[in-house]
Amino acid sequence: MISSLGDLRRTHYSKEVNPDLNGEEVLIMGWTHEIRDLGGIIFVLLRDRDGIVQVTAPSKKIEKELFEDLRKIKKESIIAVRGNVQESPKAPNGVEVLPTSLIVLNESKQPLPLDPTEKVRAEIDTRLDSRFLDLRKPAVSSIFKIKSRMLHSVRVFLEENGYLEVNTPKLVASATEGGTELFPITYFEREAFLGQSPQLYKQTMMSAGFDKVYEIAPIFRAEEHDTLRHLNEVISIDMESSFMSHEDVMDVLEKMVVQSISDVKKHCAADLEVLDIDLEIPEIPFKRLDYDDVIDMVNAQGVPLEHGEDLSRAAEKALGEMMEGYYFITGWPTEIKPFYVMADEETPEKSYAFDLMYKDLEISSGAMREHRYDILVEKIKSKGLNPESFERYLAAFDYGMPPHAGWGVGAERFNMTITGLNNIRETVLFPRDRRRLTP
Ligand code: ATP
Ligand code: MG
Repeated sequence: MISSLGDLRRTHYSKEVNPDLNGEEVLIMGWTHEIRDLGGIIFVLLRDRDGIVQVTAPSKKIEKELFEDLRKIKKESIIAVRGNVQESPKAPNGVEVLPTSLIVLNESKQPLPLDPTEKVRAEIDTRLDSRFLDLRKPAVSSIFKIKSRMLHSVRVFLEENGYLEVNTPKLVASATEGGTELFPITYFEREAFLGQSPQLYKQTMMSAGFDKVYEIAPIFRAEEHDTLRHLNEVISIDMESSFMSHEDVMDVLEKMVVQSISDVKKHCAADLEVLDIDLEIPEIPFKRLDYDDVIDMVNAQGVPLEHGEDLSRAAEKALGEMMEGYYFITGWPTEIKPFYVMADEETPEKSYAFDLMYKDLEISSGAMREHRYDILVEKIKSKGLNPESFERYLAAFDYGMPPHAGWGVGAERFNMTITGLNNIRETVLFPRDRRRLTP
């Protein structure tokens, strides 16, 4: 058995093997998706990233030794097949390959812990345990092809609109804000934490004169959730803009969402089809609901909630039943929003914070920020936090900080709205939750 590639070179991906190649020799490589041995004829379905090619081996037309070798291939083994293309209307892509030689590059152990052909359905935990096999399923890999395109289009949109990509540290000395739990780590002889948000750094970039920045990077939350919408490590799409208000960055956000969805629709047609998604392009502007009206709306649905409280899960669900698609909630109480959020000038109990929702799911939180040093220090104190632990951050406000606003979008939550998946674990290659740290 040859296990090295030597001078073997793949000539075609599966989707490139089409009737135009009739009579030509090809060398294809991939996984053994299925073997059908009918005695006098063997069909081997070879799968690669893009699809499946049928290798057809009638015993009368090929050498005996090759025929026997084909018969012995184990499912999910890696094979290279050289052969001639032949039109065949019944086969995938309308073609089959008549083999002239076979090399087993890597034999798969049997039995498989998971069936990539999906004949046997598996629970999410079994799937995640053998994620490499799970990801071989087209319906699973399509999720990540869509996610890749979505992030690509987000980048393109932000770049086109003058945003500079930055990378801020994920090893940090203290909390971004009160509330969210942090993962402590050992940093030489000190304790440090994994970053829960680039918030304070992206704001510092406003003082640095960068004007418009974005970052797409992991955030870590040590919250003991056990929900279908939370993980302990997710990708956050963050932006911050100088000389802009919350209204301005809401406009940017809804345009980004629409551009990204349009781009996915255009470039991921095959993946959307695999997932059976008929993607609708949302219309802008998105609806804007005031927080106080939201409370009245959910109360009217029988969900008890006081003005001033954060939305409970029951409230989000009730709202999700009343609202279609994407919408904003504005006018949040200052009290329940972080210290860096600016209070409304006319009604200081309300703030310039907003959330972007999709039905019952929060996709993004954002706000106009407080850029005035003295007020910011007071706000830190009023949250029971110590301004001294924010010394380095605060310094940036003492020497020329422009008014600014920004938001953070959870990439997985955004992906869920596009794919219609209701478990966030499906949208992460190797999810990290309360119980899972491997693979
Ligand atoms: P939630 O109320 O849904 O727990 P949050 O308000 O705590 O979210 P933010 O701190 O506002 O989250 O973070 C901004 C965005 O990042 C959220 O709107 C969400 O899309 C995403 N996000 C934050 N935490 C998580 C998490 N644990 N799992 C998945 N996405 C998250
Ligand atoms: Mg939020």
